[in-house]
Amino acid sequence: MKQSVKVLGVPDDINSSFMRGPSAAPPIIREALYSDSSILFSESGLNLDQDGIWEDLGDIEFSGEVAVENFNKIKTFVKDVLASDQKLVSLGGDHSVSWPILDAHFDIWDTLDILHIDAHPDLYDNLLDNKLSHASPFARIMETGRANRLVQVGIRTLNSHQREQAEKFGVEIHHMRNLEGLSTMSFSKPVYCSIDIDALDPAYAPGVSHFEPGGLSTRQLIDCINGFKGRLIGADIVEYNPKRDFHNLTAMVAAKILKEVIARIHCDNC
Ligand code: MN
Ligand code: MN
Repeated sequence: MKQSVKVLGVPDDINSSFMRGPSAAPPIIREALYSDSSILFSESGLNLDQDGIWEDLGDIEFSGEVAVENFNKIKTFVKDVLASDQKLVSLGGDHSVSWPILDAHFDIWDTLDILHIDAHPDLYDNLLDNKLSHASPFARIMETGRANRLVQVGIRTLNSHQREQAEKFGVEIHHMRNLEGLSTMSFSKPVYCSIDIDALDPAYAPGVSHFEPGGLSTRQLIDCINGFKGRLIGADIVEYNPKRDFHNLTAMVAAKILKEVIARIHCDNC
């Protein structure tokens, strides 16, 4: 079978704590990807407009708003894709979807390193009495003990509880206030990269529910995704909220990141 990267929309935002909206993201990111205002080449020069590089699987269809049922559906769908040796890039949805997506990855891969790029550590044991909150996926993942490393980049909202959680789980944090060391980031295990669009400064990406000023530039995010030493095997791009966007600016950013991620996964695995 020809190896290709699969792209899957996961339009689920029922675990958002502040504002709904990211469930509308996947088709708008695709529209930005195919916009005549840009081209389908990655910065590395890979033409994504050719057969065998990637394939769009469309969106998962959810029948309701029961988190556990939706998560079971996500996990089953993702496992089916990965079981046939395909690599997956998911388009959220809010960040809660990374938990069932990563849970499926760990059923297929013995171990993985996780690179998590976000303004927020998303390590709450629970938030608003919801253990499946979009503020909790990395607590759920780390509790399983199956991740080799969790490395977070861009963090600028660490409170006391999440600091304790990070220490408990041995999370390595590149705080936004000190990004030294990012240029030499290196991983020994296959890498899964979870990209929360609010890692970016809201000046670059206003289409998010949680504005957290003082963030990454789009250039820094791209360099982070393309710069680490290691093998990228999967990714998600989450928390784009079209309701908050201006002129589809953030959709174009998400589409750009999607191109770079597809190209890196393709190049690392062929
Ligand atoms: Mn997040
Ligand atoms: Mn975030």
